[in-house]
Amino acid sequence: MPVGSRTTLGVCNLCEAICGLELTIEGTGPEARVTSIRGNPADPLSRGYLCPKGVSLADVHADPDRLRAPVRRVGTGADAEWLEIGWDEALDRVADGLAGVLNEHGRNAVGVYLGNPNAHSLGSATHGLAMVKMLRTRNRFSASSVDQIPHQLVAWQLYGHQLLLPIPDIDRTSYFLVLGANPMASNGSLMTVPDFPNRLRALKARGGRMVVVDPRRTETAKAADEHFFVRPGSDAVVVLAMVRTLFEEGLTRPAPYVDRVDRVRELVEPFTPEAAEQASGIAADDVRRLARELAAADGGAAYGRIGVSTTGFGSLAQWGIQCLNILTGHFDQPGGVLFTEPAIDFVTRKLIGTGHYDLWRSRVRGIPEYGGELPAAVMREEIETPGEGQIHAMLTIAGNPVLSTPDGKRLGDAFAGLDFMAAVDIYVNETTRHADVILPPTTALERDHYDIVFHGLAVRNTARWTPAALPKPEGAKHDHEIYRELALRVQRRLVVRPSLRTRLKQRARLALSPRQIVAGLLRTSGVTTLKRLGRHPEGIDLGPLRPTMPERLQTENHRIDLAPDLVVGDLPRLHVWLDDRLALEQPGPDGLVLIGRRHKQDNNAWFHNIERVNRGRPRHQLLMHPEDLAERGIADGDLVTVTSRVGAVTVDVQATDDVMRGVVSLPHGYGHQVDGVRLGRASKVPGVSINDLTDPDLLDLSGNAALSGVPVTVALA
Ligand code: SF4
Repeated sequence: MPVGSRTTLGVCNLCEAICGLELTIEGTGPEARVTSIRGNPADPLSRGYLCPKGVSLADVHADPDRLRAPVRRVGTGADAEWLEIGWDEALDRVADGLAGVLNEHGRNAVGVYLGNPNAHSLGSATHGLAMVKMLRTRNRFSASSVDQIPHQLVAWQLYGHQLLLPIPDIDRTSYFLVLGANPMASNGSLMTVPDFPNRLRALKARGGRMVVVDPRRTETAKAADEHFFVRPGSDAVVVLAMVRTLFEEGLTRPAPYVDRVDRVRELVEPFTPEAAEQASGIAADDVRRLARELAAADGGAAYGRIGVSTTGFGSLAQWGIQCLNILTGHFDQPGGVLFTEPAIDFVTRKLIGTGHYDLWRSRVRGIPEYGGELPAAVMREEIETPGEGQIHAMLTIAGNPVLSTPDGKRLGDAFAGLDFMAAVDIYVNETTRHADVILPPTTALERDHYDIVFHGLAVRNTARWTPAALPKPEGAKHDHEIYRELALRVQRRLVVRPSLRTRLKQRARLALSPRQIVAGLLRTSGVTTLKRLGRHPEGIDLGPLRPTMPERLQTENHRIDLAPDLVVGDLPRLHVWLDDRLALEQPGPDGLVLIGRRHKQDNNAWFHNIERVNRGRPRHQLLMHPEDLAERGIADGDLVTVTSRVGAVTVDVQATDDVMRGVVSLPHGYGHQVDGVRLGRASKVPGVSINDLTDPDLLDLSGNAALSGVPVTVALA
């Protein structure tokens, strides 16, 4: 180590894997900089693992494109200039803008969008949500509704809390059935599983098997023992046909606290493996075999993720997956699926709401809220449609919905027409470029971290407190400080304010620091303390997952209703869809549907300013099967136009039999070339936005966007 260098432990909170880090830092104070990042082998969860993004964490900190002071926009579009302003002026401008709209048009006139990084920031958990709550708007949106709302709705219905999610016991399972997930690239999602490649190796070494069902031969499918292509959107039918097989062959053994099993048997009766074959392309015999194999496994786990959730029947598919685990007796069993017991238990301590549905509906289309949020897919119409309750101002927090949500380009046009917009973000991006003011917080390396969310969804019980690795630069603000000050300034400007008692309570809560809040929660947890975690910056191991049912169920009667009315009430819609499929001799007008994909080097919409992960072969292309290309007279590398109901994009195509026939794939989070607008080095990364093709009309029961399986045509450009 060079003289003057020091090593400190840190954490990567870019994704759900929460890998432990070893950082080498040179210099002190404002001169301090991270010169190397490695995985921390002593971390009890990540065990030294690190992906290419983790290595680049210091690049985000050093990125010249990153905002380091508040800015206000002068001019629009390509002519926009960003002027640095002081924090006082910036916060006052934002508070004036938001409070002005609230006073003139009412509480729903301000819309809020929370991007994915909010789930990864301690300050967002402790202060961001409190600030948003203080605004009292029903026009709340987040990246959850283009991602995991079906999981949450089903968990709430079955287990009584939306984040009481069963986690595959990957370190002990002998049969891992993966639907629409790519943990080799993601290291797990709603299953925090850092170092998935080595965990998979261990699974195979002990004689276990992994089977993948996916329309693309993903990195995970390539590492699997068996892979089945499945037509996008048909997962629910496949899963329900497997459930039907369990009943037909007498393979069910649910726990005694599970009710209405016979009702499930009746409901799945129409979903024969033969119907599943016609809808999905997976042979009926294979559907039956998968059900038998899962049932026979000595510890088996079925797990479905974003490719299943972002379909028109995401909730039914997730319900079917829960039925598979429960009916095969793998639920709450070692080697099956179990519930994590985090030191700060957000479920039993009610730190996160249990879940609710349809307490109100969106103004224009009448779509039900879920958990206090409306689907991101209705955001544009709520901004553009005049009338009582119209959104006149937006606050986006660490999000880029123009690239991340359906019909994104038009959403950007809607943002441009707002009376006022503000963003909390470290970049000018496709969304924040429409803001009047951007407030940039410090970066992750400059902030303390305890992962309140993902310790609760991990494949092992662990806890870790990570103090900031780098000092906070003079004049900078942490995210929780921005939320606190903004909340107070907006509140002071409101004509109609909550009672003094409520205001004092809110102020007292915001006055605490994230560290104080975590210390308090740990002190009362009975599991560990902040002091103890301070002595073990690598984290402490609290052991493997354990059976906790039925005691930990949050349902009123501590039992599971396996056929919840809300979820199974969507089955008639699936019957209609299936009948349509069975009536077709071949799918679709052009026979093509679009799916997304994720790469290990990409971090949703925001890592394209970082050169280290954007070197090498381009990965933005449309993937298409060679026979589908040949049918249309298109060659590998040609420029093609992809057209959906809502838009068209032009992009180069790559021939590959890694996608099944009839399916094309674009990665999400690309498309940074916006009419000459300066978005830093991201603009140099080629590619188009998949969400200029996805359709806001295609929704699951839960309001989640059906981003997978969008009908498209492809022709030579
Ligand atoms: S998998 Fe990569 S991005 Fe995710 S936490 Fe680990 S190092 Fe960070």
